[in-house]
Amino acid sequence: MKTIFEISKPGRKAYTLPQSDVPGELMESLPSRFKRENPLRLPEVSEVDAVRHWTNLSQLNYHIEKGFYPLGSCTMKYNPKINEETGGLPGFTEIHPLQPTSSVQGALEIMHKLGQMMSEITGLPTVSFQPVAGAHGETTGLMLARAYFESKGENRESVLVPDSSHGTNPASTTLSGFKSEKLSSNERGLVNIDELEEKMDEKVAVFMLTNPNTLGLFESNLKRIVDIVHKKGGLLYLDGANLNALLGIMNPGKVGFDIVHLNLHKTFSTPHGGGGPGGGGLAVRDDIEPFLPVPIVKKGDSGYYLDYNYPHSIGKIHSFYGNFNVLVKAYTYLLMLGSKGLRRVSENSIINANYLKESLKDDYELPYKQPAMHEFVLSGSKQRKLGVKTLDIAKRLLDLGFHAPTIYFPLIVTEALMIEPTETESKETLDAFISAMKRIADEAVNEPEALKNAPVTTPVRRLDEVKAARELKVRHTWDTENE
Ligand SMILES: *Cc1c(COP(=O)(O)O)cnc(C)c1O
Repeated sequence: MKTIFEISKPGRKAYTLPQSDVPGELMESLPSRFKRENPLRLPEVSEVDAVRHWTNLSQLNYHIEKGFYPLGSCTMKYNPKINEETGGLPGFTEIHPLQPTSSVQGALEIMHKLGQMMSEITGLPTVSFQPVAGAHGETTGLMLARAYFESKGENRESVLVPDSSHGTNPASTTLSGFKSEKLSSNERGLVNIDELEEKMDEKVAVFMLTNPNTLGLFESNLKRIVDIVHKKGGLLYLDGANLNALLGIMNPGKVGFDIVHLNLHKTFSTPHGGGGPGGGGLAVRDDIEPFLPVPIVKKGDSGYYLDYNYPHSIGKIHSFYGNFNVLVKAYTYLLMLGSKGLRRVSENSIINANYLKESLKDDYELPYKQPAMHEFVLSGSKQRKLGVKTLDIAKRLLDLGFHAPTIYFPLIVTEALMIEPTETESKETLDAFISAMKRIADEAVNEPEALKNAPVTTPVRRLDEVKAARELKVRHTWDTENE
């Protein structure tokens, strides 16, 4: 396929701009060092060429609007189009973060009301939307923990992180100045309570738990865990990136969690992939509130306002108020569903995951057999014995029209395949995926070469997966005579 620069023809255009209202003298008076010497080389194409170009490009890649995308831990649910509709309203897209608050009351109202909803969902009183990703929420949460213990004159240096946790947990721990200490999982894939009890002392600031954990299992010993952590004065952190299984079912604040981060771009249906933009809301218990990033949106007698009066705040962790447009989309999603609808999201995501798990457990090794929450983990170890790697299985799925699950994570399962169907898929779609997985299990026995050569139907075959990251080249190069 040609690049848009290659289909460019001088003089073609897809736009009609109004006459410039910047006076000519003003342009003339710009210092020459700010002016281009040569005109910017932009592609010149007609509207239909531009539309076809982008439509064709979108077909080269796999995406949620093309098909089933069971990427575990990523919650690739379908994002309803109405979110885009409200997110695109000019009243939201044409405001400036430095406008007087009296002129952006609607925007502040949305942030405030979304905060109240998230507070209800998490059971914790105050929410900040300044973090713009899950990992950013984690780092912020741990910075709050640091400020909290410093204010009490306590010197706590480490954070306990289960070995099944998302890689961002130990990374955020290190980034916020703590030492991360690994906690092993027991034979059922859950927190090893004896080890927790042994490691939890007055030097530990935070126990960072993911629930459901990355094996898709519910940590059933929560009361014990809360008691052990709180008895030593520590804080219990919930990595709530995967809250999709808990909506309206478990209230983290009531259970005893002190800090929770949410991924608006997973659970609350704002688009993700390709690096953003995201939203990593952070909910905290009331004695941690004084340390939150500023400002917090509040409601006073004369309307909504931005409260900067937090003398113990950790400061700012992002420009302005976070990714505002993501908040509009998440708010729309919550209003459309209501509290009953929200609970059904979780019920259906759990049913879908368990349906797939039960349907595939004879074809693939299922290392943890108890009922799953919103996702589950299979192992390709049986296939590995036949010389077929989990990577081959994932690539073959692309040929059969499906995005691959997350593979080789969590690290504690060999040849892991982490499957999260989400609630937005029909039984017919799930059945088609089951057939594809069964066919692959069969091919591993009878035609392993088909798997080792996959994919054969995609625009590109197997890519060098590290080259793009190590040698990032995002600029189109052509003849550069005039540049
Ligand atoms: C996705 C995820 C994160 C990180 O979220 P990002 O927005 O990608 O930074 C953290 N923990 C878990 C369990 C996740 O699934």
